[in-house]
Amino acid sequence: MSRVLEFAKRLIAAPSVTPARGQVFDAMEAMLAPLGFAVHRFIAGEGEEGSEDAPVENLFAIRHGPPGSRHFAFAGHLDVVPPGEGWSSAPFAPEVRPNPGGDLLYGRGAVDMKGAIAAMVTAVSDVPQGAGTLSFIVTGDEEGPAQHGTRALIDHMRAVGDIPDLCLVGEPTSVHRLGDMMKIGRRGSTILWIEVEGREGHVAYPHLADNPIPRLVAILAELDAMVLDTGNDWFQPSNLEILDITVDNPASNVIPHLAQARVSVRFNATHTGAELGERIAAIAARHGARTEQRIYGEAFLTPPGAFSAMVAEAVEAETGLRPEPSTTGGTSDARFLKDLCPVIEFGLCNATMHKRDEAVAVADLETLSRIYRRIVETALKQQNWGNA
Ligand SMILES: [Zn+2]
Repeated sequence: MSRVLEFAKRLIAAPSVTPARGQVFDAMEAMLAPLGFAVHRFIAGEGEEGSEDAPVENLFAIRHGPPGSRHFAFAGHLDVVPPGEGWSSAPFAPEVRPNPGGDLLYGRGAVDMKGAIAAMVTAVSDVPQGAGTLSFIVTGDEEGPAQHGTRALIDHMRAVGDIPDLCLVGEPTSVHRLGDMMKIGRRGSTILWIEVEGREGHVAYPHLADNPIPRLVAILAELDAMVLDTGNDWFQPSNLEILDITVDNPASNVIPHLAQARVSVRFNATHTGAELGERIAAIAARHGARTEQRIYGEAFLTPPGAFSAMVAEAVEAETGLRPEPSTTGGTSDARFLKDLCPVIEFGLCNATMHKRDEAVAVADLETLSRIYRRIVETALKQQNWGNA
């Protein structure tokens, strides 16, 4: 059995539905410690199980090169989404099955993203210590609220002064074939709650009441008509969607007291969550409404340059495909890591992620570990990042 396959099976065999702690991190530590990595594990979050502040485990492992070395980091997560029903084999009992296109490894996390973590560990296992500084930034809370995951890891890295020069996130970015897509950015995400308060009354006496619904409708019409931007070379246009409108009014002769709505904005790197929140709040305020906002993630962009070229060349050398630089899809932990250094995401095919019978081609695991190995070697060698 190849080493990457063995590592992937070991990780899948440790159940780790988000938020992950314990066994799966034991398995990870057991792989990294023999390679000379100093492994630091810690629990963050002190809330109740099931709450946003539930305790999660995080791992930062580093192997320092000679003084002045470049520092290359791999980032990812060991938690997985719940397996759900209907699997053809047990989700946490990794199983290799023959398939006309090549053997497949089944198990929850095979592509998102224990397979990629196994490929990262395999990639570094033959890199000599003198080549440079390598680290692993691994959380147990990416699939959950992500309050105490990568953010806490970044705090730790800042506290100990180990800031990478470049970071590669191993999310499953490939679509049809391993190598066809990488992510050089992601859109940000925010939600706003809008609340219009009126005065209730009898529909036959509207002059004695104040109906909040027309004001809410006016606000939503303005928001819906707003053109946030027209997109650019790397991002599709930012988009606002009205998610719901709530007026609790069972009666047919009562003007209601309150009308509420919720809007979501997925925005590109020409905006920040706070700026959009202020714009929407200002429109709402003109109609006498209040807003509340939650920012789930800011947008990030690592503009095409030396780093994306390095990843693309490694992918092309191993697969013959030139990966499309994309910014599509949901948020990822790159939204936090971008504050440390340039970040790019590249990983396995995402067709079965979060589904039952999640599976990865064994050959893809092997190819991915070779791609990662090329990226590490080039990254540590290259002294001048220029426009990373
Ligand atoms: Zn993932």
